[in-house]
Order: sequence, then C-alpha cells, then structure tokens
Amino acid sequence: MAVHLDLRFDRPHEECGIFGVFEHPEAANMAYLGLYALQHRGQECAGIATSDGQKMYFEKNRGYVADVFNEEILEKLKGDAAIGHVRYSTAGDTRRVNAQPFLIESHRGKIAVVHNGNLINAHHIRKNLNREGSIFISTSDTEVILHLIARSKQKTVEDAIIDALVQVRGAYSLVFLTDDKMIAVRDPRGFRPLSLGRLNNAWIVSSETCAFDLIYGDFVRDIAPGEMLIIEKGKAPLSLQPFPEKPPAFCIFEHIYFSRPDSIVFGKDVSEMRDRLGRKLAQEAPVDADYVVPIPDSGIFAALGYADEANIPFNLGLIRNHYVGRTFIEPEMSIRHFGVKVKLNAIRSIIEGKRIILIDDSIVRGVTSKKIVDMVRSAGAREVHMRITSPPYCDSCFYGIDTPIKEDLIASSKNVEEICRFLGADSLGYLTLKGMLGALGKESWCVACFTGKYPVDFQRDELAQLRLFEKNGAVAVGVVSLNG
Ligand code: SF4
Repeated sequence: MAVHLDLRFDRPHEECGIFGVFEHPEAANMAYLGLYALQHRGQECAGIATSDGQKMYFEKNRGYVADVFNEEILEKLKGDAAIGHVRYSTAGDTRRVNAQPFLIESHRGKIAVVHNGNLINAHHIRKNLNREGSIFISTSDTEVILHLIARSKQKTVEDAIIDALVQVRGAYSLVFLTDDKMIAVRDPRGFRPLSLGRLNNAWIVSSETCAFDLIYGDFVRDIAPGEMLIIEKGKAPLSLQPFPEKPPAFCIFEHIYFSRPDSIVFGKDVSEMRDRLGRKLAQEAPVDADYVVPIPDSGIFAALGYADEANIPFNLGLIRNHYVGRTFIEPEMSIRHFGVKVKLNAIRSIIEGKRIILIDDSIVRGVTSKKIVDMVRSAGAREVHMRITSPPYCDSCFYGIDTPIKEDLIASSKNVEEICRFLGADSLGYLTLKGMLGALGKESWCVACFTGKYPVDFQRDELAQLRLFEKNGAVAVGVVSLNG
C-alpha cells in the first residue's frame, strides 16, 4: 500500500530556500545546482524562473529539485539571470500553484519573486485586497507582495517593491527578477539569512553559503537586515536601506538545526556554533556514560562538542538512511517504531550494554524522540540519557518555520521531569536560554519559540488568527491560475 508517511523527524521544518544568479551564461544550471545545495530547506516543491531580458521562462512543480528538473527543462530556461526556490509547505498546502517563483506581468513589466519567511499580516492585507476585487491564484503569503507591487503608484519597480514591503510585517528574505534587474531584500530584523556571493563576473545570492561552494562561487558578505540590493548588468550592486531601522532578530534555530553545518549563517560558521552548543550542554547537563551518540544529522557537531568537553567517547550508534522519499510502500504488517526505523537504525554492537547519551537539537511533539529512546533501549542500552542543545521548545514560530500549534508542543504543557518520563529516558537535560545565548554570542537573536516573546508585535487578535490559520490550514481563495 503506498502511503504518505511523515518521515521527517519531529522538529520544526524550514519552509524555504532561495537562490539567485545574475549575468551568468548558464544561469538556469547554476540556479539548479544552488537549489540542490539548499534542498534541506524544503522538499515539497522546487522552481526556477529565468530572464533573457525580453522574456521570462519558468518551471516549478512538486517534488525534489532532481524530480522537477531535467536537462531538457533546464535548456528551455533561457537567459543569463535566474532565481530559484525550494519549499516545504504545511499539510494540505502542497499544491503546485503554491510553488515558487511567483510571476506576474504588470504595467511595470514582468516580475518574478522567491521568498523565505512568513508575513504575519498577510491575511489582513489579503482580505482587504479581496474586498477591492483582487484575485489571488494561491494561498501563499508571498503573492500579497506581488499584488501590492502591482497596485503601487510609485514609478520605478524598486520604489514599488519598497512601497509594498513597508505595508507587510514579519519575516522576509526575497529575491526579485525583472527584465533587467535582480533585487534582493532582507526584512529589517533579518529573521532569515541571505548572502551575497560572486561567481566569475556574475552576482549570486543564496539563503546559505553552502550553495556558493557547490558552484565554486565566493561568499562576499551577508545582505544586511533591512538592506535592498539592486543588481544590474555591468554595475556593482547598489545598496539601499529603505526601511526604518529595527533591532535585529536572527532566527537562532538556523544555527541549532536548519542550516547546513558547512554554511556560514549570520556571519558564523554553523558547525562551530553547534560544537559550542554541545560543549555548553556538557557543562550545564553532565552525566556519566560510555558513549555520546548524536541523532543524525543535526546532532553530530553538537555531540562532538559534548563528547570532547565531557571527555566521553563519541560514537555513531545511530545510522540514518538518507535515501527515503516522501511516499513509501508500507507493508501490511505491524512493525514497532516503523516510521522512525525507516529513517534511523541503532547499531546493536555499539549500543548493547552501554550507557548512552543521545544528543538532539530539539524536542517538538516528543513522539519521535520517544521512539528513538525506545529504539536505543531495544538495541540493548543499559541507560539512555537525552540531552538537547536548545531550551524547551514551547511556542510556535510565525516567521517562516513550520511548527505544530502550541498545544501540540510537548514543552508547552509538561515540565522537564514529565517530558523525561514520557520519553522513557533515564534522564533529560536541556540547554538553558542563558547557556544557548552564551554559546552563540551576543547578537540579537529571535528566541520566541523558547520564550513566547515575539520580536514583531502582533496587533489585536492577530496572534489568535495566525494560530487558527496554522491549525486549520490556509483557506483557498484563488480561482484563476496564471502560473500553475
Ligand atoms: Fe526561529 Fe524560533 Fe524565532 Fe521562529 S520563533 S524565527 S524558529 S527563533
């Protein structure tokens, strides 16, 4: 029986990765490779839009980058400029029409956009635009930006983008492509990363620098919070700061879990940050054991740090199967921990008779963590101690990360002792907020999912509406599909 089995681990999920390349003879191929490197940021949909200065071409669909594109499709994506997107979407919202890039033809010409983030007032704006007769083709918040651009009275496309973005609130890293420009923008608090790079004479932008490495590009710098970069042929990028300055709120989860360890994010090396989190955790939550075992892959660098700091041997007692697709043929029989076992397996010869410290980045619902603890016990562990490289995850994210509603987060209703009992672990230790911030440095981080203190204020009823929206899924209002 073919079923859609949720094989993602019980963690928040990154919703998007974005990439752009300007003035490169193989723009579509570079975007394809860039998206390949960003695949971990979204596996539901992928898309690329290109421009040859006259026409725009695009392809987007559900699936992995390698499923959506082939040589024939890439050849049709002509031009020397391209933007691309990988997306993870919430349940019930995986339709192709929600895949990006979004593309419009307006009186300003063609404009394509890719977005990483989440606009907290999108549904308000959308309601108003609907009332005034706008027709939406998707349920994505990103489309709101294009409507606002199309309606702006400003003369240039740059000014129209600024005009649109001053009306939205929340998290956005965006790359726009027009007939003759690529424009990259990061919201004033800089929730989501966006970096600028160079590839021979071309300019490249990406959610993470690992995409530059794959195509032998050079990382130049981060695009600053609130910065708009206008990239035109033969010119150095023009940097503007068109928005009122706000205190930065970099998503700390990029370092805890989302970003690839070989990326530099918010100016910091991700693998090094994870090592530091592990070391701090070893200081704050020590326990005697035979092995420190990471839950792969995100726990690896933190476990190395923990093991070194605690002077306990590191061992790979859990192995991850990287080749599992989203749809899986589930045999007609009952196997314990089946969903987790498809993706993870314990190595009995390492674990049997040993006291194990399991290192993970977070516990969201707790269901998967419980299955992993159970699996390690079944492999013969004498003791299982769970250590988490972040504080209890007790509130939902509204800035571009797909998280369960608050009620489904185990730490929103249980204390550490109760969670430990639920997991069936011998002990459970979280990193403290102070310890986490101490390990990662003094930057202004967003830590709302650990504290419930949201950096972008919600207007009256907005948080309740967002929670309802998250719970019930997006309400489809679009009837006409131009792109999809
Ligand atoms: Fe990141 Fe958490 Fe803030 Fe969301 S709420 S942006 S996941 S730190």
